[in-house]
Amino acid sequence: MPGILVVATTKDGGLSRDTLELLTGASRLKAKLAQPAAAAILGAEVGSYVPSLFAHGADQVYRAEHPLLEGYQGDAYALALHQICERAQPTVVLLSGDVVGRELGPRLAYRLQAAFVGEFIDFDLDQASGRLQFTRSAYGGKAMAVIQPRENVIVATAKLRTLEPAAPEEGRTGEEIRIDVALDAAQLKTHLIQRVQEETTGINLGDARVVVSGGRGIHGPEGFKLLEDLARILRGAVGASRAATDAGWVPSSWQVGQTGRTVNPDLYLAFGISGATQHVAGISGSKWIVAVNTDPAAPIFKVAQLGIVDDWKAVATHLTRHCKELTGR
Ligand SMILES: Cc1cc2nc3c(=O)[nH]c(=O)nc-3n(C[C@H](O)[C@H](O)[C@H](O)COP(=O)(O)OP(=O)(O)OC[C@H]3O[C@@H](n4cnc5c(N)ncnc54)[C@H](O)[C@@H]3O)c2cc1C
Repeated sequence: MPGILVVATTKDGGLSRDTLELLTGASRLKAKLAQPAAAAILGAEVGSYVPSLFAHGADQVYRAEHPLLEGYQGDAYALALHQICERAQPTVVLLSGDVVGRELGPRLAYRLQAAFVGEFIDFDLDQASGRLQFTRSAYGGKAMAVIQPRENVIVATAKLRTLEPAAPEEGRTGEEIRIDVALDAAQLKTHLIQRVQEETTGINLGDARVVVSGGRGIHGPEGFKLLEDLARILRGAVGASRAATDAGWVPSSWQVGQTGRTVNPDLYLAFGISGATQHVAGISGSKWIVAVNTDPAAPIFKVAQLGIVDDWKAVATHLTRHCKELTGR
């Protein structure tokens, strides 16, 4: 029976948080659609993830294993995923909006002649039309667009951190379907030459409960050392505006906003960030936003619960010292 297909990804030996969020959303939707929720998992050896996919709500798991699927390679994954879809016949395929999903989603949509929706933040069934609809930001975060594709098959990538993953139901099982994918190295137009793992220390930006962010107002890479120190003491992660990442002060993976990461921490500290709509698009899920800016008219103060009109360094230095004393870290 056609239904929802979540394309699972893994991280650090477990399912990625994006996958857990997508499965939570798919489980919520399957009752409304009266269709099952399935998951697809691809790789060289992925059997160990199957129980976890069932526990998180998948009714069926399509398991595709092949030596050419060891590590992500776009051509191989697009071919294999297409073969899974030919078997599963899903009405909607959900992928995470990471680099893998952003490449695979449009390629799969083309192969399936399906509608493609990118970067949705929510999805639901429109009761009136009985069709799926997706919400995503538009006009640089100034408006929200609700998209209702007319095609019968939809491929969509999610910009997540909007759903709290449901707790697993241990012992829950389902149907495991092995897909014998036909892949030939000669079909692959691109070849992976080298994989460079970005060095990451501390807490992942997307999962952090505290994010300490800096913008152009930090005036150079040196200032980020202080922000890193503050983030470490607060057991948080460091983020940045695009102005700071484009300047090469910090890695681009630290960028928060419309074209960067979406964060939803309990506390978002914005130092020297003006609050452009594209930046705010990535932080609106934060519980508390505290902004430090020398310009009292900076737009960031419109979204901050607490605003401090001052030099970022003076405030960050005081805050770091006090937090160090309080926590002993
Ligand atoms: C399609 C598109 C996508 C984009 N995506 C993103 C995105 O994902 N994320 C993102 O961040 N941007 C994004 N941008 C860029 C965005 O429009 C802004 O240009 C960017 O966010 C500005 O960064 P900023 O606030 O650090 O710099 P600025 O806007 O230059 O602000 C710097 C701020 O620092 C303050 N300041 C200066 N000195 C000090 C001091 N000593 N102490 C305290 N404050 C000080 C200033 O008053 C100012 O408000 C995007 C733009 C486009 C067109």
